[in-house]
Amino acid sequence: MSESYAFIGLGHLGGNLAASLVRNGFAITVFDRDPAAVERLVALGATAADSAAEAAARAGNAITCLPSPKVSEAVLAGPDGLLEGLPQGGTWIEMSTNGRDEILRLAALASAKGVETLECPVTGGVHLAAAGKITALVGGDAALYEHHRPAIEAMCAKSFLMGPVGSAAVIKVITNMLAFVHLVAAGEALMLAKRGGLDLAQAYHAVVASSGNSFVHETESQLILNGSYDIGFTMDLALKDLSFALAMGEQSGVPLELASRVNAIFQQGKATYGGGAWSTQIVKLLEDAVGTNLRAPGFPAKLEL
Ligand code: NAD
Repeated sequence: MSESYAFIGLGHLGGNLAASLVRNGFAITVFDRDPAAVERLVALGATAADSAAEAAARAGNAITCLPSPKVSEAVLAGPDGLLEGLPQGGTWIEMSTNGRDEILRLAALASAKGVETLECPVTGGVHLAAAGKITALVGGDAALYEHHRPAIEAMCAKSFLMGPVGSAAVIKVITNMLAFVHLVAAGEALMLAKRGGLDLAQAYHAVVASSGNSFVHETESQLILNGSYDIGFTMDLALKDLSFALAMGEQSGVPLELASRVNAIFQQGKATYGGGAWSTQIVKLLEDAVGTNLRAPGFPAKLEL
């Protein structure tokens, strides 16, 4: 556990990942454009820096968890960015979700400055991140992965080395495409149960124990039934990931009929509730359309382990 890290991007996901590193004894230097996010990590034991460059220079390696490839590029290669602070031979670990083309382009910028890239998007949601039990999908050099494995394992219960940089983006985009398809399907299923006169709580539990179950049903359906929809992941992020999936389908000649339809539903969700609304609220479109809500007693407002 000799390495120390700068951590940039302390939002719903990154704040929990950085907290896991602190909890496991890593020396973490943090930066976020939101001072309140920095304060939360400092209260846990992290050190604050005034810029990404300063954090990277102090730590020697940097981790990012940012909302879009555009922001990742600015934080990596812009003024006061990581590449101004990281030493030659330092590592940039990108935990944001990117498309394959985007991470390859950003890794090339890092490589031109002698900085190695490990892509490490994660999957499972903020409740698993909060418990240090999220899953990491890794793309990069095998020896580099081994070198940073202690840090990855401090944040994630499982990690999968998928191949070179770019390969983790492919599987991450695939798993999120599945999750959004499953979410819309779970909403339609619950609505059929309600309109079919079933007790919704009992219908939820029956589906969990059935061949129609999914991770998304097990987790997000609880937030739908509670009515909080609070998954800690926004419509904007869902649309970003679906755009990567649709681009992959186009590039590889795979028709994605389900993902295309789900993307159109999420566009409608953003137009109706805003890009900052929780992605789970996509099911509210159906609730509003048919004038029936999906509330049931006994489900939490937030997921916890
Ligand atoms: P978020 O919007 O909650 O957090 C982003 C953080 O980045 C914020 O704290 C923001 O202040 C900071 N930031 C934005 N621009 C910045 C800049 N220029 N310099 C410094 N800080 C800046 O987003 P999130 O939900 O934590 O997601 C982060 C990434 O992780 C995204 O790529 C998302 O797709 C991915 N992801 C999220 C989840 C989830 O459940 N939330 C799960 C898997 C993957």
